[in-house]
Amino acid sequence: MIGILGGTFNPIHNGHLHLAERLQQTLAFEAIRFMPASIPALKDVSNISAEQRAYMVELAIVDHPTFQIDSRELERVGPSYTIDSLISLRKELGDKMSICWLIGSDAFAKLNTWHRWNELLNHCHFVVVKRPLSEELNWNAEVKLLLETHQTNDANTLKNSASGKVLIQEIEALDISSTQIRQHIASKTNVSDAMPSSVIKYIQQHQLYQ
Ligand code: ATP
Ligand code: MG
Repeated sequence: MIGILGGTFNPIHNGHLHLAERLQQTLAFEAIRFMPASIPALKDVSNISAEQRAYMVELAIVDHPTFQIDSRELERVGPSYTIDSLISLRKELGDKMSICWLIGSDAFAKLNTWHRWNELLNHCHFVVVKRPLSEELNWNAEVKLLLETHQTNDANTLKNSASGKVLIQEIEALDISSTQIRQHIASKTNVSDAMPSSVIKYIQQHQLYQ
């Protein structure tokens, strides 16, 4: 069973790493792959290159033996659609491998805005982690229905099948976001509690987010 954490990682922070570490402990993934979006379909990242965002991910995970970078979205042209990445992952890993897409509740609540979102569960499971301040009330109605029809509370179900289930995993998420970090760097507020020192150093060297 492998986990995929897709994101903009603009920049990567301890909230991402904490999520991956806790899920690794709880669900015992063989590996967790961090998958930076090249051109996120739903976000503006004009201030920084995809290679820089990916490089910061590499810096942040270098000491974790089971964390890997998956740069397939950087190798494709055009918007980074998760459905394309999943189809490509299936080709690499086969139809039997359990693939879990790891996702914060803020992103899952808007899953209906993703390209071909109705097909995603044909290729993966979702493991949803509740993020502070993301109210369940704001969940899109169609996404709520998807949850009702596909939810499992049994982690073994994820292991024993390749795709098709949604697990809400109760772990404590850190109240950190990339948006908050970009604002703090711009206003010269200390961010040393929020991200690895190697990433902070890289940001300083390249004067990112100033
Ligand atoms: P931004 O503020 O620019 O939206 P972000 O902090 O939300 O950035 P993303 O790269 O958009 O980071 O997040 C990638 C994935 O990680 C998403 O599924 C998101 O919900 C999840 N995530 C991000 N930060 C946290 C956190 N602190 N705790 C749990 N999950 C998180
Ligand atoms: Mg976000």
